[in-house]
Amino acid sequence: MPMKSVHRMVHQADRSDGTVEWACPQCGRYTMCHPSRQRIVVVTGEANSVHVPGAGFPPDPDDIPSLSDFDQRWLYNHQMVW
Ligand SMILES: [Zn+2]
Repeated sequence: MPMKSVHRMVHQADRSDGTVEWACPQCGRYTMCHPSRQRIVVVTGEANSVHVPGAGFPPDPDDIPSLSDFDQRWLYNHQMVW
């Protein structure tokens, strides 16, 4: 079975409605991802390639809220070291 080539999508734009646009620099695939998880493929590109999200997806670690002291204490008290 031949291996599929992997293409890394590049973030293009954030629309005001929350839609995020992605493009593949290798084959020209272009998609728009709506916040409802609906994905619209504008340009198919190489259909046999596997497309994976590039930088910026999922959100950068800075966007992930950190645990509060209370949460850390609760996890520790319940033997769930985070
Ligand atoms: Zn591609």
